[in-house]
Amino acid sequence: MTKMIYGVLGHPAGHSLSPAMQNAAFRAQGIDAEYGVYDVAPEGLEDFLSNLPGKGIAGLNVTIPHKIKAKEFVEKHGILDAFAKKLGAINTIKVDDDGKLCGFNTDGPGFYRSLIEDLKFEPEGKTVFVLGSGGAAMAIVMYLGNGPKRIFIADVDKDKAAALKLHYDGYYDKSRLSIVDPADIGKYLGPNDLLVNATPIGMKDQDPSPVAKEVLPRGLRVYDLVYNRPATQLVKDAGSMKLHAVTGLGMLLYQGAIAFEIWTGAKAPVAVMKKALKEALKS
Ligand code: NAP
Repeated sequence: MTKMIYGVLGHPAGHSLSPAMQNAAFRAQGIDAEYGVYDVAPEGLEDFLSNLPGKGIAGLNVTIPHKIKAKEFVEKHGILDAFAKKLGAINTIKVDDDGKLCGFNTDGPGFYRSLIEDLKFEPEGKTVFVLGSGGAAMAIVMYLGNGPKRIFIADVDKDKAAALKLHYDGYYDKSRLSIVDPADIGKYLGPNDLLVNATPIGMKDQDPSPVAKEVLPRGLRVYDLVYNRPATQLVKDAGSMKLHAVTGLGMLLYQGAIAFEIWTGAKAPVAVMKKALKEALKS
């Protein structure tokens, strides 16, 4: 049997942690496969996706800036999974036995699985606050759907928040999702709620927390999507108040684990993948 080829498609894509995580998973499961990096500029995307079987590629992760355009391509030429269609973006492609492209989005389910496994938080019937309304926030709220009792979105970019609400309201009950000013978030946060940081604040060394420590109530759960450091200021603040808080490493892990399962049909070796991710982050 020939070696299977997988990879991450982005621009730039060189800093991705996915090769370390996926190659460790293939090795652990004894699958003869290689996961590489495909750095393709937007103008070359259609051309690249047009001949994946010819390149011997069996599956891809798709990242910034291609998630929406790749979804459009797969919708036209292949098969799109129901959640990816609803979200309007893909992060995973599987090339089926007939060479057809199948598009999925594992960011939403990856976040959900991490929420349950890492934070022990069941969002059903709860209140969820999401700071930021970019692609990551969209994946999260579209996956949570009608589960939470209320969803609050706070973004410094009001137009982006409004676009997210419009998209969400097109699929789910009107009025469940509200937009609030980031400066006012403390007025709404309550115990037993979930706060998600879906902004890039926390990625840089000296970044402050996007939420003042004083407004974090007792009992709040905190999920910071930032994953490039062991703890952001938000996670540190929450930890100092004995709140249960995690970084986004779990979401990164589970979106990759679900993609692995889509490609191979084999169970993802989650512990091996997590270890590889942590090692890759250190280097
Ligand atoms: P994005 O498209 O840039 O969206 C972030 C949004 O947050 C922007 O609209 C931004 O507004 C807004 N924002 C910035 N500072 C803010 C503040 N203080 N309060 C409220 N809103 C603020 O980014 P993204 O792609 O959605 O990613 C967001 C974060 O999630 C990044 O840190 C990314 O690394 C992380 N992420 C993690 C995973 C994972 O697997 N763990 C997956 C995807 C993304 P402006 O554009 O006006 O600044």
